[in-house]
This record gives sequence, C-alpha cells and structure tokens, in this order.
Amino acid sequence: MQYPEPISKLIDSYMKLPGIGAKSAARLAFYTIDMREDDVTDFAKALISAKRDLNYCSVCGNITEEDPCYICKDAGRDRGTILVVEDPKDVISIEKMREYRGLYHVLHGVLSPVEGTGPEDIQIPSLIRRLQSDEVKEVIIATNATAEGEATAMYLSRLIKPAGIKVTRLAHGLAVGSDIEYADEITLMKAVEGRREL
Ligand SMILES: [Zn+2]
Repeated sequence: MQYPEPISKLIDSYMKLPGIGAKSAARLAFYTIDMREDDVTDFAKALISAKRDLNYCSVCGNITEEDPCYICKDAGRDRGTILVVEDPKDVISIEKMREYRGLYHVLHGVLSPVEGTGPEDIQIPSLIRRLQSDEVKEVIIATNATAEGEATAMYLSRLIKPAGIKVTRLAHGLAVGSDIEYADEITLMKAVEGRREL
C-alpha cells in the first residue's frame, strides 16, 4: 500500500530514531495525525528548539543552553575534581544525587577497537588539555561497567597518573555491563563514595 506523501515523510522521519522500525514508525505517524493540532505544533517546536538552542559546553562537553555550562561556571564547585562520563545523560543521573560537587568531563563515547573509535575520536584530547591546569587533583572515571568502559578507564588512568593526578574508578555496586544512566541514586552515591584508586 502506498501512503500519501506527508505520511510517508513522517514515517521516514520516525524511522531515523533509534529502535524505531517501519511498523512502529507507521504507528507513531498515524498517532501524530490524530493528535490535536496544538500538541503537534508544540511537539515540532520542541524538536527544533532542542536542536537549535542546545549546544555542547566548550569546557566539559555537557549539553547546555549557555557556554560554558552552569556547572563549569559555578564558583561553588570543587575545581580540583573532574568526574569523567561517557554521555551527557550520565551527568544528569549524577547531578540528581545532589552529592557530587566537582566538575565533569563528557567523553561522548568510549574507546572501541572493534568500531575503530580511538582517543582522538572522543573527548580525550580536551580532557588532557583541562588537566594541564594545576588545579585538578583527582579524576574520577565513571565510564559504564562494560568492556569498552573498563578499557577506556584503564587507558585514561595510564595517561593521567604520570602527571601526578589521582585517578579513581567508581566502585562496583554497579553491575557489570550496566549503564550509569540506569543506576538508582543510592547505588550511584555508594559507587562514588566507594571509588577506588586505579
Ligand atoms: Zn561545562
């Protein structure tokens, strides 16, 4: 069956989202057509604004409306500690605990020989540049507990420790293979408190 062009365009757009196949995309497209016009307009505006008004912080790589982000700008934060995560979503998870008072660095990925992702492909060079200021005393590596996350942690540890900076890794209350993003707040808090030196 041939869909009218506006619908097939909408289906194609939904199919660009992760985990959405042709069937789900068609279901979402038809659902959208049934939505109230105001809601559809708000939805479209939210999509455009999320893309247009958000950027990555030029210091830490977190998503932000202003550059540098509010965390990097906050004078009350401990500038001696940088917590390294894979993804901006991890910053949100850790901020929710309201326990951690240091800064962040978002790698935007992990090292993966299989996928050909090397240090230059993620935000490792910018991390190393930040560490050249003598303020940083500790780097807490909070990459996910996956094989790539562990390998990235080891790589960073070897790179950073010779500079005399303490390198720690989140404790493994976090299950192996688990994502920081899905850890509950108490597990995360314990993981930060029980971090071990690499
Ligand atoms: Zn920032």
